[in-house]
Amino acid sequence: MKPSSFEYHRPTTPEEAAELLTRFGDDAKVIAGGQSLMPMLNLRLAAFEHLIDIARLTELSGITQDSGSVSVGATTNQATIGRSATIRRAVPLLSKATPLIGHFPIRTRGTIGGSVAHADAAAEYPAVALTLDAELEALSASGRRTIQAAEFFTGIWSTALRDDEILTRITFPVWEGRIGHAIAEFSRRKGDFAMAGACVAVKVDENARVEKCNIGLFGLGPVPMRATATERSLVGCSIDALEVREIGHAAVSDLRSVPADLHGSAAYRTRVGATMVARALTSALEEAIDD
Ligand SMILES: Cc1cc2nc3c(=O)[nH]c(=O)nc-3n(C[C@H](O)[C@H](O)[C@H](O)COP(=O)(O)OP(=O)(O)OC[C@H]3O[C@@H](n4cnc5c(N)ncnc54)[C@H](O)[C@@H]3O)c2cc1C
Repeated sequence: MKPSSFEYHRPTTPEEAAELLTRFGDDAKVIAGGQSLMPMLNLRLAAFEHLIDIARLTELSGITQDSGSVSVGATTNQATIGRSATIRRAVPLLSKATPLIGHFPIRTRGTIGGSVAHADAAAEYPAVALTLDAELEALSASGRRTIQAAEFFTGIWSTALRDDEILTRITFPVWEGRIGHAIAEFSRRKGDFAMAGACVAVKVDENARVEKCNIGLFGLGPVPMRATATERSLVGCSIDALEVREIGHAAVSDLRSVPADLHGSAAYRTRVGATMVARALTSALEEAIDD
């Protein structure tokens, strides 16, 4: 199928893109890599009179490391993130998540900003942003603002971005010390969206006790989520005493809106989610004590 007709705009600056969004309001949509938007337009699940192409705005692309954080421009494509030595070293969870997104040709076009703004509850990057307490910068004609990842994902394919805002960059804190990061997911075929998945970032102190542990869940509700009660319960525990299978079950025990479809019931997905938490926690702890 073909999309309904639209007027194509290619602004030369992010500010011009934001002005176009303000001018055309609900009739306009930003397009970046097009890997989610184009299928929706082609299938006529969505239609817009104006498409504002931000893919070639160089100001929105690139990876920069400052003291304590790494910023990734919204139009940086997923393949570039997967190849980045800076990301591998400073934000290893983002690096590990990247090969799980679709297939390589999709990652050469798909952008981090598109993935996070699209906010599929089963997508990897939104879960990584939430797990690492990333900060998201939004630009509109009236200026810039920062949104915490914990406040960004508001519902199914919905975010705190206003219709007149563009996501410009995502900033990840760099974890230091005895740290480990892991992502585990289950999908029916390689490259498919996950049926259930988990991200873990853990920091261990010199006595092999958990100092900090962030657990993100994806594919298990309308938005990516944190298992905050389980995270808190782990702080101060000796890693030798941790029962990862029990922790996995605890992390998913409070979930109330697990999706059910022809691929799996809510109960099945919940069990898979528990296993993914246990696997990711095991890998992250192994990495932390190897440091
Ligand atoms: C076959 C296939 C398999 C896939 N598998 C996976 C997978 O396993 N995991 C996964 O996470 N993804 C998967 N994807 C989706 C892919 O990762 C997309 O790249 C991503 O979801 C959207 O990025 P994009 O740059 O292509 O965004 P686009 O498709 O261009 O845009 C998506 C949405 O985000 C908005 N948007 C884009 N950029 C911005 C911005 N900077 N500011 C504000 N709004 C913006 C657009 O307006 C649109 O609503 C798959 C896609 C395909 C086609």
